[in-house]
Amino acid sequence: MPKEYFECDCSQPFHELVVEADMDSDCDFFCIYARLKHYRGFFSRLWIGTQYILGFSTCKLGDFDSFLLKEDDIDRFMIILNKYKTYLKGKQEGISNES
Ligand SMILES: [Zn+2]
Repeated sequence: MPKEYFECDCSQPFHELVVEADMDSDCDFFCIYARLKHYRGFFSRLWIGTQYILGFSTCKLGDFDSFLLKEDDIDRFMIILNKYKTYLKGKQEGISNES
């Protein structure tokens, strides 16, 4: 299955989800890659990286951000999840039928 890209509803150009699923081979997987932060400039990235290396954070609970799924993308997202759910169900039934 090719990668599917979802843009965040907040319109930040770097907020995106990439969903990748492999249901055709023996090493199947389902991954959601989230890119939510983008630090511009070398020194900004160096500062953030230094804080990370030293164990400091801008927030006590860590760096969090959110992704807002667009209403128009809900069906496409659900199709991918349902395909994977169906695949896993078939795989489990195949395993239980073999034993
Ligand atoms: Zn966003």
